[in-house]
Amino acid sequence: MGIEDAARRIAAAGPSPARVARDPVNRPAIRDWLAAIGDDNPVYERDGVAPPAMIQVWTMPGLPGLHDPADPLRAMSGVLDEAGFTSVVATDCAQTYHRYLREGETVAVRGRLTDVTGPKRTALGEGWFVTTDSTWTVDGEPVAEMRFRVLKFRPGTARPAPPPSAPIRPVTSPDTAFFWDGVAAGELRVQRCGDCGALRHPPGPACPWCGALKPEYAVASGGGRIHSYVVHHHPPLPGRRSPVVVALVDLDEGVRMVGELLGVRPDDVRIGAQVRAEFAAGLPAWRPAGQRVLPAWELAVTPTVVVSTALATRDFQDVHHDRDAAVRRGGKDIFLNILTTTGLVQRYVTDWAGPSAVLGGIAIRLGAPCYPGDTLTFTGSACGGEVSVSGRTAAGEHVAGTVRVAS
Ligand code: ZN
Repeated sequence: MGIEDAARRIAAAGPSPARVARDPVNRPAIRDWLAAIGDDNPVYERDGVAPPAMIQVWTMPGLPGLHDPADPLRAMSGVLDEAGFTSVVATDCAQTYHRYLREGETVAVRGRLTDVTGPKRTALGEGWFVTTDSTWTVDGEPVAEMRFRVLKFRPGTARPAPPPSAPIRPVTSPDTAFFWDGVAAGELRVQRCGDCGALRHPPGPACPWCGALKPEYAVASGGGRIHSYVVHHHPPLPGRRSPVVVALVDLDEGVRMVGELLGVRPDDVRIGAQVRAEFAAGLPAWRPAGQRVLPAWELAVTPTVVVSTALATRDFQDVHHDRDAAVRRGGKDIFLNILTTTGLVQRYVTDWAGPSAVLGGIAIRLGAPCYPGDTLTFTGSACGGEVSVSGRTAAGEHVAGTVRVAS
């Protein structure tokens, strides 16, 4: 039977029977998880509730050999294993929390196969994307949901990764040096005619209104509105992840300026929206007015971080604790598991939002694997109740995601 036929058969079987967690939600497991993630939010201990990002932990199958044969992801993985797609890496996880779990509650999970797509050529190798939906319940009450996607790939078929490229740097000239000096100083400088006082951008030697060759500059407030924009998808830009939104902004001072628009998904860009200038990485860029920027957080990823978090999330896949096995399966070393990355994203946001924050959901997409020796740097921005998070290593973006903060 072909892979697609097997996928249709497993998907048609619908949700698996409910699998009940081995243990009720309990404080020792919560404490191990908090210690491994490094999360010192006091709310869990105080209120006797579990961190929401632990939802998957409670129903993890445990050591290999204890797998539930009725689990649709397990069934589909078996089909792909037989076809030679024996390696696995998680790529996407979107969790919705209806409420936090309380100590003593016993959860059950049902999963169903929703999509199998392939074969695709990926950076890791030729493989199939397998998507499942899961629902957790307590006494029949839905408490959380998850869409989960893995890539099952054939080891040894990886494309060599292109070397990381640096963003293109601006070229300065005598006419534009004042502008880039301003960017370095955190100022948005606009050229002003020393004779008639008219503002102009882009800079040039002569005033287009009076012809005077007497350039000076004014410091703009940094506020403006989106006049127009484009979304760049292809070709790839050095040092950037597509898509990139580039906006043409009407400054409050009356001139127009181009720059990258940060912190907004392409679908959410609105003509006329208010923006503020920001000076990230030596380039002027724009961000929606009122958006708050989270302080960056750097995590030194050690073997202990990788192994302790894998065990605290009850993920016993060998690639997260056994270096030889990880290399045999096509990795460089052991690497962080997706349950941990979800937990680190939760910690980053609640460290910033404070103990009273209640999370409604976490959705992440994984990119470059995170290995021991990496420094994982989280950055984020918040608009309303939604926080966008990015976690990067020297090799590129490890995780991009959004967190919904309910209160
Ligand atoms: Zn002039």
